[in-house]
Amino acid sequence: MTPALATMVAEARSTGTLSGLPDRHWINGTRCPSGSNRLMETVDPGTGKAFAQVAAGNAADVDFAVSSAHKALDGPWRTMVPAERGRLLARAAALIRANADRLAVAEALDSGKRLVEAQGDVGGAARAFEYYAGACDKFQGSAIPLGPDYISYTTHEPIGVAAQIVPWNYPISTLARGLAPALAAGCAVVAKPADQTPLTALMMGELLAQAGLPAGAYNVVTGTGVEVGAPLAAHPGIDHITFTGSVATGIHVMQSAAANVTRVILELGGKSPILVLADADIDAAIEGTLGAIFENAGQICSAGSRLIVERSIHATFVEKLVKRANDFHLGHGLGSADMGPVNSAAQLDRIAGYVERAISRGAKLLCGGKRTVDPETGLGWFYQPTVLDNLPADDEAVQQEIFGPVLVVQVADSAEHAVALANGTDYALVAGIYTRDFAKAHRIAARLDAGQVYINEFFAGGIETPFGGNRRSGFGRAKGFDALTSYSKLKCITARL
Ligand code: NAD
Repeated sequence: MTPALATMVAEARSTGTLSGLPDRHWINGTRCPSGSNRLMETVDPGTGKAFAQVAAGNAADVDFAVSSAHKALDGPWRTMVPAERGRLLARAAALIRANADRLAVAEALDSGKRLVEAQGDVGGAARAFEYYAGACDKFQGSAIPLGPDYISYTTHEPIGVAAQIVPWNYPISTLARGLAPALAAGCAVVAKPADQTPLTALMMGELLAQAGLPAGAYNVVTGTGVEVGAPLAAHPGIDHITFTGSVATGIHVMQSAAANVTRVILELGGKSPILVLADADIDAAIEGTLGAIFENAGQICSAGSRLIVERSIHATFVEKLVKRANDFHLGHGLGSADMGPVNSAAQLDRIAGYVERAISRGAKLLCGGKRTVDPETGLGWFYQPTVLDNLPADDEAVQQEIFGPVLVVQVADSAEHAVALANGTDYALVAGIYTRDFAKAHRIAARLDAGQVYINEFFAGGIETPFGGNRRSGFGRAKGFDALTSYSKLKCITARL
């Protein structure tokens, strides 16, 4: 840790907050109070105490943000040539890196995640801007062969104003993976961060302005889902919505979008499997499984929350895994813990409820299973790393997203059986496979219903690799070059010579 970062962490730990955090919307290139003049608190999950306030927005604020975005589209943002847009995004990436310490500490306080994870997320946000900076002047159309009497070609036009509705588990990285391709494609953006984690989206406003983004091309309205999210999703001035969040809210957003025939991408939940076959490198599979379910205290849409292990290695694998899980130290995200808190008291209740009900139905609790607190302060919303075994495939703990540090174990009698179990929920977001047999791994990968499949490293990939789900995990793809198509309209122009 650099001395500057250590000083910032010490300030945050002793005062419980950071000075100079943004407390208003970011609209039309400037900080802007809510029309209602109301504020709302944001809470540090590691202590359970409020540490900052932001504007509590409403439909009028959404209107202002959408009209500012349209003005930007009619102004210099529309005429900026792609290479210049690319240079602007590259400057934004450099500014994110230059301000990485402050962004990471704010993110850790707001979400509860460990500082090292927050640093990874901020680095990922910078990578998103870097990646799409390079894409601006390469996102080209094609020529269509109609013979000597015609010229026919396609162009990608910006879709217009793109809404980004973001959840609390990966605030800056989820925002950046939508915002960077949207700006690269020439769109203007209105973002609505989660009520629980508004800060880094607001901080991005200042950085993008410093990078030279015209006023109105990026706007942030903070507030609740009902008061800000719903009017944004239903706004006739929005041309595209990227919604990342729960299935229930995603359905509402899709219904609102339908009324205006607005395009929508849904990045929803998951119940993703990790298949560990008998010939796997056991130590690598154990480390992969621990990261897949206990990183960010399991609050990851693509968490590996179901371990599907072949029967012949089940007992030894689970024994080693549980020994490692029992060694995890829990504590505040700005300390040196292996796992931080969950994001809210409501989320803690939800997780505890799933585990208690599973045990009452006969699940075998292999480790964890209890709420706890930061051992240093006695505060915060913590849940022990938990492993549940001996549950039938149709049990709610196997079928539903718990969104916490809870792994359920399923036993497979063969690779074939493992595939059937893996595809046996309503979700289809990601899947992991651990085996030394590469041919078998690729055959299984082809049969898994998932937007991403990882072989021998869970979460392998980065901003370059397209991400998204199938079935109740949603549709549309973020990341990679494919994401640019979400933010553009394809036009085909044909001329008779
Ligand atoms: P959520 O659906 O409650 O909230 C997500 C966002 O939607 C928040 O900004 C919220 O304020 C807003 N919102 C709430 N009600 C709204 C409404 N009626 N109209 C418009 N917006 C509204 O989800 P959450 O609890 O914040 O996040 C957890 C969920 O997100 C999990 O299910 C998780 O799997 C999912 N998630 C998915 C991905 C992915 O990429 N697939 C990534 C992260 C999280």
